[in-house]
Amino acid sequence: MLEEAARHPSGLGPGFRGRVIAPDADDYDRARRVHNAAVDRHPALIVRPTDADDVALVVAHAQERGLPLVIRAGGHSMGGHSTGDGALVLDLSAMRDVEIDAVEGTAWADAGVLAGEYTTASHALGFVTPFGDTGSVGVAGITLGGGVGWLVRKHGMTIDSLLAVEIVTADGRRRIASAVEEPDLFWGVRGAGANFGVVTRLQFRLHPLGNVLAGDILLPATRDVLRSLVPVLLAAPDELTAMPTIMLAPQDPAIPDQHRGRPVVYVSVAWSGPSGAGERALAPLRALGAPISDTVTWQPYPALFSPVDRDEEPTSGVSSRALFLDALDDATIDVIERRLTEADAPRAIVQLRVLGGAMARVPGDETAFGWRDQPVLLWLITPYQEIGRAAAIEAWTAAFRADLPADGAATYVNFMGAEDTDAVRGAYPAPAYARLRELKRRYDPDNVFRANHNIPPAVTTSG
Ligand SMILES: Cc1cc2nc3c(=O)[nH]c(=O)nc-3n(C[C@H](O)[C@H](O)[C@H](O)COP(=O)(O)OP(=O)(O)OC[C@H]3O[C@@H](n4cnc5c(N)ncnc54)[C@H](O)[C@@H]3O)c2cc1C
Repeated sequence: MLEEAARHPSGLGPGFRGRVIAPDADDYDRARRVHNAAVDRHPALIVRPTDADDVALVVAHAQERGLPLVIRAGGHSMGGHSTGDGALVLDLSAMRDVEIDAVEGTAWADAGVLAGEYTTASHALGFVTPFGDTGSVGVAGITLGGGVGWLVRKHGMTIDSLLAVEIVTADGRRRIASAVEEPDLFWGVRGAGANFGVVTRLQFRLHPLGNVLAGDILLPATRDVLRSLVPVLLAAPDELTAMPTIMLAPQDPAIPDQHRGRPVVYVSVAWSGPSGAGERALAPLRALGAPISDTVTWQPYPALFSPVDRDEEPTSGVSSRALFLDALDDATIDVIERRLTEADAPRAIVQLRVLGGAMARVPGDETAFGWRDQPVLLWLITPYQEIGRAAAIEAWTAAFRADLPADGAATYVNFMGAEDTDAVRGAYPAPAYARLRELKRRYDPDNVFRANHNIPPAVTTSG
């Protein structure tokens, strides 16, 4: 009996084949950390299941013991949702197989796989699935929120390449959700997917891709450049996706003196079309102003992501806000310029995702993510090293966001920061939000899965 308890200190029972990391384990301190170094929490227990059966045991155990359940894939939640004081953290990092069917053009990924790992494996066979711009982000987390990356204009969002998920719901059942099985649930997981259960595997469509023409065109952030940027990029062919980042130029000897510390825009681009047409597609961008530097070159698609290092220690805090815009108008540019150049401002960056193309051709009600017609996504990111200043930096970032146009209340769940449940309404059009609340009531009426940008279950009215 004693022996049994020692082998299963979590109380999960002998059926659980994964790893249990209690607060006295040597690697507890590393295991509790997440990407946002300012999120410093102490879970009651961290468990690393090996498969969906293990996951079902953990989901049942959390409910039996009344422990708050937290799900973690890549750990990049900027709101700190993948850890928690006193929580049972279900860390999927031991589940990391990718099965590629090159003949069918599909792939199954375990929920602990990181975007860079998947991309390296699929690209070796000549295929990709669109994720974001960072390899260390979890395939599960990015997909369940939508997924906006380098191929968004050519192939749409990550959810537009999602074919099915395997999911363990709060009642312990293992289900498949796809266009034909539990289609309502499949609709919901494509944009609000952290709310309905633990997704254990995801099936994706593969797209053939070899090299891309990609890099950064660095331009001075003059008013003319900023005004023209979005129209030029929206008029480009779908094969060109760009992420212009407005920031103060670093004190980098590679940047001419007169630009250092001044507003610049790094127009990061990826052309995934035919080789002959790439330079032509980039010409209007390069004509916007004399580039300060230009690193655009042909490279294998996975080179767009830094190599994944699962042992890397998080050191940087991050505060984040997002909103969709119709255009980058003068009022918005004024706020950005004023905030970035404010005395003693933290080193924030404003990244634009210029959308349209394949993403916009999907009907708005086909997935829980519904802001298909929005042409620009603005992501305000404040990374910082001084963790002790977290509260002040969070307040500054929130104030910056509040200065931006209020009529763009729509937001993107994957880029949300430490924001309250009310702000989550902005991540979905009103009819989608109401439908999500109903779906939540059906699949998770007790809100077991609440460590996320939460959708509260619809309230049942009797009589
Ligand atoms: C540096 C950086 C770059 C980014 N770039 C992009 C980008 O280019 N495009 C983009 O769209 N997004 C991007 N994001 C946002 C990112 O997609 C989200 O933060 C995403 O939720 C992270 O997923 P994760 O698995 O790494 O995080 P986690 O913190 O592990 O999970 C995030 C949320 O999803 C839930 N969750 C995770 N796995 C599961 C599962 N299997 N089942 C149910 N719920 C689960 C968690 O509980 C949590 O609420 C970026 C974030 C960072 C920090």
